[in-house]
Amino acid sequence: MERTVLGKTGIEVERLGFGGIPIQRVGEAQAVETVLHAVERGVDFIDTSRAYTTSERRIGKALQQTEKRVVVASKSQRKSLDGVRADLEKSLRELQREFVDLYQCHFVRDEQDYEQVISSKGAFQGLIRAKEEGLIGHIGITSHSLDLLDRILDDGLFETIMVCFSFLEPLAGEKIIPKAIEKRIGVIGMKPFSGGVIDSARLALKYVLSQPGIVVIAGVEHKELFDENWEIFQGNYQLDDGERRKIDEIRRTYGKSFCRRCDYCQPCTEDIPIQMILGIRSVVKRMGKETIRGGWLPKAIDKARHCSDCGECMTRCPYGLAIPDLIKENLEWVDEQLKLS
Ligand code: SF4
Ligand code: SF4
Repeated sequence: MERTVLGKTGIEVERLGFGGIPIQRVGEAQAVETVLHAVERGVDFIDTSRAYTTSERRIGKALQQTEKRVVVASKSQRKSLDGVRADLEKSLRELQREFVDLYQCHFVRDEQDYEQVISSKGAFQGLIRAKEEGLIGHIGITSHSLDLLDRILDDGLFETIMVCFSFLEPLAGEKIIPKAIEKRIGVIGMKPFSGGVIDSARLALKYVLSQPGIVVIAGVEHKELFDENWEIFQGNYQLDDGERRKIDEIRRTYGKSFCRRCDYCQPCTEDIPIQMILGIRSVVKRMGKETIRGGWLPKAIDKARHCSDCGECMTRCPYGLAIPDLIKENLEWVDEQLKLS
């Protein structure tokens, strides 16, 4: 069990935080109970988002029932100044707070998104104002693109970054995380189980926690799952030879089928959000089947149905994924789910 400081924010928290995605897929009473249990056991960093439907409200309810001090982080996908302001006000209402410790620009996909975010009428300016007004403590950003995060670290506008990090997506550990730490930009590692692909909590958490200086967020919807993670957090993170072999085995199994969300395959000639389609099963697993019918996924699915099999994306995927075939497989799976529901 270790604590760390999120770079120049000065926020000091336990290195295992609570991720707010899975509590959407259970009833409210269970969700509130799980958050409260985690906080009572010692969690002092909780991350959520405007995009996670009921998550902010449930976390807000749970935190009303405890005296413990918890650092709360939320985020918005809106790119404009007015848009992020509207989202922040909604976040504050849902969380039942007058102040959020960290507010992040959520899922900034590429340079184009980023330029919009940092423009004079962009979300970043909206968050600067909110910080001056005392509504938020610090400003962060989240992205799946390591190239973009690299630029963000060079620009130095944001106080924290959130990056995918697991033994199936280890690249951030080589370049992004050390650079961020050197620049005193706080690092929050997301998706330690690679969106539910890694079954072994022990292997997954030991791997990410063995990277010093970062906070890792793990989402759970049951007290029992939380206790399992918390027990691992309290142990040592040294992987033994057997565990390393097991990790290599899992890496081999998923080597040619697991999308690392790096976006190097873009741009797609049909504007298909490839990483979203290849990761669709894990999104549905974490956020529930309704996501196929509502929100942003149906649009992505429609686009994917227009894949022309041109193969251009495959020439750019560093992991050699057979992208058009994987898109077809995932669309077949989606159609089955639609028939079943
Ligand atoms: S094969 Fe499909 S996904 Fe790949 S670039 Fe062509 S249209 Fe896009
Ligand atoms: S398909 Fe390949 S290049 Fe595209 S996001 Fe996934 S791992 Fe990266």
